[in-house]
Order: sequence, then C-alpha cells, then structure tokens
Amino acid sequence: MNTPELETYSQPRELNEKNVIYWSPEYKACIGSVRSKALRFLRDKLIEEVGNQFYVRPIAGYNNTTYLVNEFGCNCQGFKKNGNCSHTLAVEMYKFIKNYNRELQQ
Ligand SMILES: [Zn+2]
Repeated sequence: MNTPELETYSQPRELNEKNVIYWSPEYKACIGSVRSKALRFLRDKLIEEVGNQFYVRPIAGYNNTTYLVNEFGCNCQGFKKNGNCSHTLAVEMYKFIKNYNRELQQ
C-alpha cells in the first residue's frame, strides 16, 4: 500500500511549473488574470533568458509580440500602467524555480 502524501506544506524537493504557485510570493501578490497568463508563459516554455534579460514570447493565438523583461521591468502597456504584468510575474517565477533548485543541489 502506498503511503498517502500528507505533508503537502513541507518544502518541496524541487520546484517546477506546477508547484511554484504555492511558493512564489510574487504569484500570491498578483490578481487572477495576471496569474493565469503568467502560468501560460511559464508552462508553455515561452521565456528565454539572454544574459540578464528575458524574452517572453507570445502565447499562440493571443498576439504576436515578444516582450522584454529586465531589471527595469517590462516594455508592455500593462507594466507602464500598473507597475507589474504577467510577463514580469512569469520571469519572477522562472527565476524562483531556477534559484530554488540550484540551492537544493548545493
Ligand atoms: Zn509585460
């Protein structure tokens, strides 16, 4: 018989696109529409890290624009208006997963 997984709130051994939502403070701070788009970018592997910048490629069928996220934020309209957006959230979660898993390996 398998042991049921009761310790759902203990620290995960690895973060990934599925469980990051339970651990990322940035995700918890965002509203629903920003969250769901950010998760599409993350899960569809649309984030490309180039140096210390990130290209967020478009969701198929949504639009055709690739956005650039760096230390100053994102070049989309939403970021200009609100100071955050689905692209910066997606990149924050991408970095969160990467750093978390890197620290666990050390
Ligand atoms: Zn943006």
